[in-house]
Amino acid sequence: MSAVDPGAANTEGTEAANGNRLRCNNCGSEAIVTKAGGSALTCCGAPLEVTFGR
Ligand SMILES: [Zn+2]
Repeated sequence: MSAVDPGAANTEGTEAANGNRLRCNNCGSEAIVTKAGGSALTCCGAPLEVTFGR
């Protein structure tokens, strides 16, 4: 059975793939995507920027 498979998900538009790192340019908080394909994560009222995984 396949478990978590980082890289399997496609990055389309602003959506990030599992394992991608996001950072808030406003406060510097970082988050790691654990649920690809969901709505874009936001912080401080702005979408987080992908800093890893491209
Ligand atoms: Zn923030």
